[in-house]
Amino acid sequence: MARDESAFFEIMRQYYNAEAAKLDAEIAAYYAKYGAGNVLEYRQLLTTLSDDDKLLLIQRTDAFVQKYPEYAHLIPTRESIYRLNRLEGLRTSIALQQMQMGADEISQANDFFTRMAAMHANGAADLLGFGDSFYTMDDALVRLVVGQAWCDGKDFSQRIWDNRDALTRSLQSDLVNGLIRGESYQRITNQIQKKFVSVSRRNIERLVFTEDTFLANEAAMQVYANDSSFMEYIFVATNDSRTCSVCASLDGQRFNISERMPGVNFPPMHPWCRCFFDPVYHRSSASGLTSGVQGGIIKAGKSFEEYAETPSLLGETTPKEKYDSYVAQGLAVKPLGRGSFKNVPFESGGGYRVYFDESMQKSLMYHPEKRSHHDGAYYKLSDGKYGVKRFDIDGNPIEE
Ligand SMILES: [Zn+2]
Repeated sequence: MARDESAFFEIMRQYYNAEAAKLDAEIAAYYAKYGAGNVLEYRQLLTTLSDDDKLLLIQRTDAFVQKYPEYAHLIPTRESIYRLNRLEGLRTSIALQQMQMGADEISQANDFFTRMAAMHANGAADLLGFGDSFYTMDDALVRLVVGQAWCDGKDFSQRIWDNRDALTRSLQSDLVNGLIRGESYQRITNQIQKKFVSVSRRNIERLVFTEDTFLANEAAMQVYANDSSFMEYIFVATNDSRTCSVCASLDGQRFNISERMPGVNFPPMHPWCRCFFDPVYHRSSASGLTSGVQGGIIKAGKSFEEYAETPSLLGETTPKEKYDSYVAQGLAVKPLGRGSFKNVPFESGGGYRVYFDESMQKSLMYHPEKRSHHDGAYYKLSDGKYGVKRFDIDGNPIEE
């Protein structure tokens, strides 16, 4: 994820530098045309725009409308350009360029976010045994998540427009103030270029980082929300020196999935938030049966700890007995998510993976004999602390 983000930021950095150079050339042209000795007189700028310059400006607005017809309403009306003076012409140029940049950023960001959302949804789908390419980029779930207005009722494109608006006004006022003070071309353009690039970068990096936190959480959550085995989640703060007090206080708290709200009880809580969540697996009502025939079934599948401590216990029951037991215990038992048995149900000859804890960290996997890379059927116990260990069907460790 971080690698994808930095590749995206690098593309945007080059784009901002190129655009900054364009604005610079435009201001330079004004100085060359209307200035003397590298200084431009303010009252010179208040005289009417030359016909050539009017034409240029009209061509630029036309080019913008052609490229982005959906944003046509944003540009100043074509007619009013005839009444502009040189200074307003320059201000309009700045505004036009910022609009063009906003439109470009939105389309770039939309492509990037769509890829990210599909990736995050597939991460969750993989954990549930659906494989890592279950959702495509035009899946309804992905489209639902990308462009959600989760922040102050605004989606990311509105936030990009807001950022561009603010930068337009700031650049325009820097320019006008510099000209009023009679500053040299070098001085004005230095200041504008610096702000142009640094603010653009800061804005897009914050926006993309925070939106990606939203996508990572919401795309994955959509997958869990569609599975009735999950009703709640636990807020997980990154808990390092940079974690803010708001996120730290939410860390470990449980919330209903249906009541999640970014900024309130679901990440992101704030710009640059890096928090995430753990889904809580909800055991079905079948658990608790421990006597009679059912009790026998229940006892066939031991706990993670028992198998981890005494792997030979694995040999005492068949894969089928374990499977029935775990289903009866109400644990999450899923088909394999990878390999040639990907998504093949146990009943149809596939393997299975059972998760022992609510946050799905501890698991026992069963792989059938067919198409095994480990010399026949095997079990795999895995957990963050225990690591990953394989055993044959009798519970003997398999040397890797
Ligand atoms: Zn946070």
